[in-house]
Amino acid sequence: MFHWENGLKLTRADLAIDFCRRQPRGFISHAHTDHMARHEYALCTPETSALYQFRLGRRRTLKIPYRRPIQWGGLRLTTYPAGHCLGSAMLLAEDGSQSLLYTGDFKLGPSATAEEAELPHAEILVLESTYGHPDYRLPPREETIERLVALVRETLATGATPVIVAYVLGKAQEVTRLLADRQIPVLQQKRIYQVSRVYEACGMRLGQYELFEDRPRPGWAVLVPPGTPPLECLGREVRIAVTGWAVDNGARYRLKVDHAVPLSDHADYDQLFEAVRRVRPDKVYCTHGPESFALRLREAGHDAHPLGRPSQMTLF
Ligand SMILES: [Zn+2]
Repeated sequence: MFHWENGLKLTRADLAIDFCRRQPRGFISHAHTDHMARHEYALCTPETSALYQFRLGRRRTLKIPYRRPIQWGGLRLTTYPAGHCLGSAMLLAEDGSQSLLYTGDFKLGPSATAEEAELPHAEILVLESTYGHPDYRLPPREETIERLVALVRETLATGATPVIVAYVLGKAQEVTRLLADRQIPVLQQKRIYQVSRVYEACGMRLGQYELFEDRPRPGWAVLVPPGTPPLECLGREVRIAVTGWAVDNGARYRLKVDHAVPLSDHADYDQLFEAVRRVRPDKVYCTHGPESFALRLREAGHDAHPLGRPSQMTLF
């Protein structure tokens, strides 16, 4: 049986999944702050364990590398790459007669700094569906990367500083790697830099980057978290937000930036359908996205339901 209390609980295994309130035992799909808490005991991949403990201090963790099943409370638990950020994992839970796949935040296709997502078959799919609306169809990834690189190069050529706004964990490291691979070195604001050091400690190379110390450097891009005020020390800056939400018309005004580039670490609308096709589930439960997405899946012939209101369902 599982039930939902602002998060999924595998009742039989006594395991809370991606809770942001402290739990006796919690599975952490990835180290974004809305998916974790200071649990008494946390199950996660080795990379998520490193990032979780960097963010929340030393904690007890059971590390579950990808594709290496463990037995836990009568269930077999296996993690698979989710393609969202370093260490991000889907969780497959099997009891011998039924199987459930929890995707957590995920994205299909390549990433510069996360292993590409793998979706095993499961009878029950719990699908993170943030972009579950047809307005959220992202342009091809290569096109988006080329646009970002072109904006950065053009800005540097005018003598201004490109200031890229990206989430501290995941997006910032991916942008760093993408630019560094194209011979554009990156100065990182301190919080981003610290996370990057953990990425490197886990074996994920990011290329040429250094700590930003309030001085521009010719030929370098600057990377800061959302909400960073204008940096007077830079003189003229051109702000570029890198987020999937950039597909919204007017995103750059809302985000108060000069440009908004839709590089996403979440599956877009078409990828969500593709994920369901790959898993071939009997039942789909949708979380995080618009409730209408379950309806759209039903129209496409799937047995789908929104999950998010208090509910109790017999599964295991
Ligand atoms: Zn996330």
